[in-house]
This record gives sequence, C-alpha cells and structure tokens, in this order.
Amino acid sequence: MTTNQEAFDRARSAIPGGVNSPVRAFGSVGGTPRFFVSAAGAHITDVEGRSYVDLVNSWGPAILGHAHPSVVQAVQDAAARGLSFGASTPGETELAELILARVPAVRKVRLVSTGTEATMTAIRLARGFTGRDLLVKFAGHYHGHSDGLLAEAGSGLATMAMPGSAGVTAATAAQTLVIPYNDRDAITAVFAEFGDRIAAIITEAAAANMGVVTPLPGFNAFLAETAHANGALLIVDEVLTGFRVATGGWLGLESLAGGDGYTPDLVTFGKVVGGGMPLAALGGRADIMDYLAPLGPVYQAGTLSGNPVAVAAGIATLTAADASVYERLNSAAELISDATSAALTAEGVAHTVQRAGNLFSFAFRSTVPENYVDVKAQEAFRYPAFFHSMLDSGVSLPPSVYEAWFVSAALDDSATDRILSALPGAARAAAAA
Ligand code: PMP
Repeated sequence: MTTNQEAFDRARSAIPGGVNSPVRAFGSVGGTPRFFVSAAGAHITDVEGRSYVDLVNSWGPAILGHAHPSVVQAVQDAAARGLSFGASTPGETELAELILARVPAVRKVRLVSTGTEATMTAIRLARGFTGRDLLVKFAGHYHGHSDGLLAEAGSGLATMAMPGSAGVTAATAAQTLVIPYNDRDAITAVFAEFGDRIAAIITEAAAANMGVVTPLPGFNAFLAETAHANGALLIVDEVLTGFRVATGGWLGLESLAGGDGYTPDLVTFGKVVGGGMPLAALGGRADIMDYLAPLGPVYQAGTLSGNPVAVAAGIATLTAADASVYERLNSAAELISDATSAALTAEGVAHTVQRAGNLFSFAFRSTVPENYVDVKAQEAFRYPAFFHSMLDSGVSLPPSVYEAWFVSAALDDSATDRILSALPGAARAAAAA
C-alpha cells in the first residue's frame, strides 16, 4: 500500500511542491497532505484506504455530494458520444438557458473552463465596453490567478501571507486599485480621485476567500449605484457562491431577503455550474455580452470552452439542485456551524462564526470581521491543531483558516455524527495551541 507520505514524496520530485494548486500542500497547517483516490456522497478516501467526511467538496462544486449518480451517468453518456469537438453543441445552449432562468441579471452567457478565465474575460469586457483602464477590487477578495487580480488577494495568497505574486509587472499591478471591503468611504474616495478612469468594480458576491465575510447590508447596492453614477460597471463574482448558497446564488438570496434592488452588469460563475468538471461562465447585460467576439471587439476563445462532457455535468448538477437540496445544505450548515461554535465556546476559545447562506467559517477573534485587516487579526495559530484533530478523527476540513467550509446535500446522519463527535477533541486542541 502506498502511504500519503510516499505519494507526496514522489509528487514533489515531479511537480513543484508536489501539488497543482498551492493550498493543497498543507503549508499553513503542516503535516502530510492527503492524496485521495476516490469519493462518493459525503466521503472521500485517501491512498491509505482511510475515509473522511469531506467538508471541502472540491472547494464548492460537489453540492450534491461526490459522484452523484445522475451527474456521473450524464458524464459517462456524454463521454461515450465524444470528449471534445471544438465546435458548438446543443448542450451549451441548454446550460446557458438554465443559468439565465436562475439569475435574472444575466441575459446572455459565455462558457469558459475556469473561474480565473471567467473573471479575466469579464474584466477585459468591462474595459472594452467602457473604454477605461482601471479596476477596483477589495483586499482579501480572490478572483482567480490572472495577473491583475493577485494584489492583496485571499485564498492561497492569504494562507501563504503573500501580498501578491512575483512575475506581475508593475504596470499591470498599477491598474488594479485595491481598497478595504465594506468601506463606503473608500469607494467614494477612489471614485473621487479616479472616477472617469475606472472601468469596473469587481467584488465577490459575498466574500468567502478570507474566510466568510458578508457584505454589510446595502453594500453591494451601494457599489452598483456608485459604479453606475460614474459610468463604470459592477462585476459580481459568484464563482464560489453561485448556485451554492441558493438557486439564484447570492444575488438571489439578497433579493429574497427583501432585495437591495441592484443589478450587476456582469456576473461570473464557476464550481457548481460545472458540477465538478472544468467549466465556468460569465454573463450579464446582453448589450455588454454582445461586445464579445464574434459580435464585438473584445476577444475570448477556448479549445475546451463549452466542452460537452463538462456541460453535461453542469446540466445534471443544476437540474438535480432543486429547492430540497438547498434546504438540506442550509440545515447542514446551521447544524455544523452551531455545533462547532458550541464546542469552541465550551473550551473557552474566543471565536466568531461567519455565515453567508450555507457557506460558513470561523475566525479566532471575538468580533465579527468586516474586512481583510480584521480577518488577519485573529489567533490563526489555533487552526492547525483544530484541523489535524478533525482530520485524525476522520473529517477533512479546508487546510487553512482563511477558507470557507463547504457542506453537501449528501451529509447524512452518520456523516454528521462523525463531525459532531470529532468537535470536542478539536476544540480542546485549539484551546491548548
Ligand atoms: N472567483 C472566486 C470568488 C473564487 O472563489 C475562485 C476560486 N476559488 C475563482 C474566482 C477562481 O476560480 P478557478 O479556481 O476555477 O480559476
């Protein structure tokens, strides 16, 4: 039998750091990363044959649980018909129509392969449409790894305490204005200084790459209002929240909650929309989307864009994700976040619980963080002990305190019980750290 350590050692001699995405290396929690071989429902199994209840779920896509039968069947059927044609297929329109039906702000959609591509293209489109150069983004928000978006980004950069990335030219970095999240004065100030040069504001629908930090009530509407008053666009990044926190994503949740009544110009999707396959999308106002080639002057293309196997997984996932799935996700999130908080409280560990619909995370501090500076001011050193105690008890959490936890609709009573019984020991470990 191969051990995780052997798998990691072998990987490290062929792959930088042994991983194809940095957070997988367990850099901030230490220890040996698990190498997985299979997953089904709520569980994932490593090379040593150990099974874990999975609260990462591929960082979001697996809302139905792993290897959901209807998704696997759709993928197998599509694969048998051919893996990729580099030409149009009817399924692409079907998936686009499912997105349109769920997100009223989106009137046309372009399919791409990763969330990084979706945001990169949305920004190029915003620049092409407005004829302006500058982009406003928030510290701690992550929108993928394209050059202009790595300044003070969350996710792996937060985990590794990297302010940005080497290899991004100063000229490119200078075109992104990074300001604090949830800070209306900062928005007003940046538009007062650069208003006629700003093409767009990009924001996570609800921030979830520095842990979960929800937008303060009315904040997203304020962004839309300010952008529009200055001839700029609002890009709402729903790569993580889209089709996960509700049928219509965070935009749908906000409008259900009484509605701020704002409309973003462009919206990006990934993760759930591809059901675990490499697929993402951008969409929005029809007049802006029609600025994309072949109709318009903004170029975007992809050999594997709208890949038929990925499209089949996306259609099957969105079709299966009905109201009952979102009810299950919400109740699982409530149960697990409440129980985790109670376990930490019982051990006297100061913490906050942040929830954006069924996405949640914890910060080891006593007041709820509203921005990246707040998030970084926590007792992050408690997380590795908490994480490893959970892992030893058979629960796989995100290997970073700066990431959200992801539930799936496959969490049944026995999986949930395993989580609940692991929590007291993990809380003790966090307290002793
Ligand atoms: N935007 C957000 C909000 C994300 O969470 C992510 C990935 N975690 C991305 C964009 C980038 O997506 P991908 O990893 O598919 O390139």
